[in-house]
Amino acid sequence: MTATADVPIDLRSDTVTRPSPEMRAAMAAAEVGDDQFGEDPTTNRLQERVASLLGKDAALFLPSGTMSNQVALRVLTRPGDDVIVSRECHTVWHETGGSAANAGVQLTEIGSGGIFTVDDFLAARKPRGHIVYPPTTLVEIENTHNRAGGVVVPEDEVVRICAAAREHGVATFMDGARVWNAAVASGRSPSDLAAPFDLVAVSLSKGLGAPGGSLLAGRHDLIASAIRHRRMLGGAMRQVGILAAAGLYGLDHNMTRLADDHANARRIADRLAASRRIRLDLATVQTNIVVFHLHQDAPDAATVVERARDRGVLVFAFGPRMVRAVTHLDVTREACERAAEILAAIAG
Ligand SMILES: *Cc1c(COP(=O)(O)O)cnc(C)c1O
Repeated sequence: MTATADVPIDLRSDTVTRPSPEMRAAMAAAEVGDDQFGEDPTTNRLQERVASLLGKDAALFLPSGTMSNQVALRVLTRPGDDVIVSRECHTVWHETGGSAANAGVQLTEIGSGGIFTVDDFLAARKPRGHIVYPPTTLVEIENTHNRAGGVVVPEDEVVRICAAAREHGVATFMDGARVWNAAVASGRSPSDLAAPFDLVAVSLSKGLGAPGGSLLAGRHDLIASAIRHRRMLGGAMRQVGILAAAGLYGLDHNMTRLADDHANARRIADRLAASRRIRLDLATVQTNIVVFHLHQDAPDAATVVERARDRGVLVFAFGPRMVRAVTHLDVTREACERAAEILAAIAG
């Protein structure tokens, strides 16, 4: 079985979506101005909208989620500080070492499966003023957690971790690139999920289908500092309402349909889990990401990626025997079912 060779089923990431004609029309019609003078009305509207959705004072538009994460580190830490993060988080694995280069911090990975407990946090926290320890000044939670398979972090644990952090003068940050998926999957509002944190980063270019853009939301003083660091990293833009309009369109039209992506991921996972040569913990499949592991008697990840490509299915190798497939608004239920059959056949 092969998908049509000229139109591959692209499950590499939810970032591969192309703006729809309606989204493009909204972009073309956007009112714009110079955003660095605060005069882009569409960007201002997006920032107010996201601040209100997340229940924060203010929000700031940035070109990418990676830059939002990097700016958050610079706003909330000083060089030499220790930042506690979940194991295999985006900041550690997918930002090409930016945290060390841009913020000069060290990252301490804790927990497993994308999750850690308040006890894990307290055991790893290093106090200020110690003669040899680097002070832990920030804790970061990634929700949903990408490399753990798109899992939603349990909210009661989030609340406990952030309360303990506050008690110890440790700032809190959520990498919520896919917090929209976490909200849809858990039935909680984005503002509930954002409430425990000082700063929250969200993406527009994942499930919401915009061609780019991210926002950082938080208190006025933190956003004022983020404006400076955005400029310092070269991320301040001008008539960027063109892009903000796509984000507004995504928030208006592509939020509730994330549930379809979750159902499609579940279909793929159910099929793959039935394969003898694939290890897949179905409990991790809560949103739009399927991470699976290939047994020793199956081809390795690079081989699976290559053979799948030959048959019209694109997936991403996350490790020597670890593969990721992500569903999104440009793949139908039928395409996902076909892709799952192809991947299962290749694994053998
Ligand atoms: C995609 C992603 C980001 C941001 O990525 P960009 O490609 O820079 O927009 C940040 N955190 C997580 C968990 C992500 O999956």
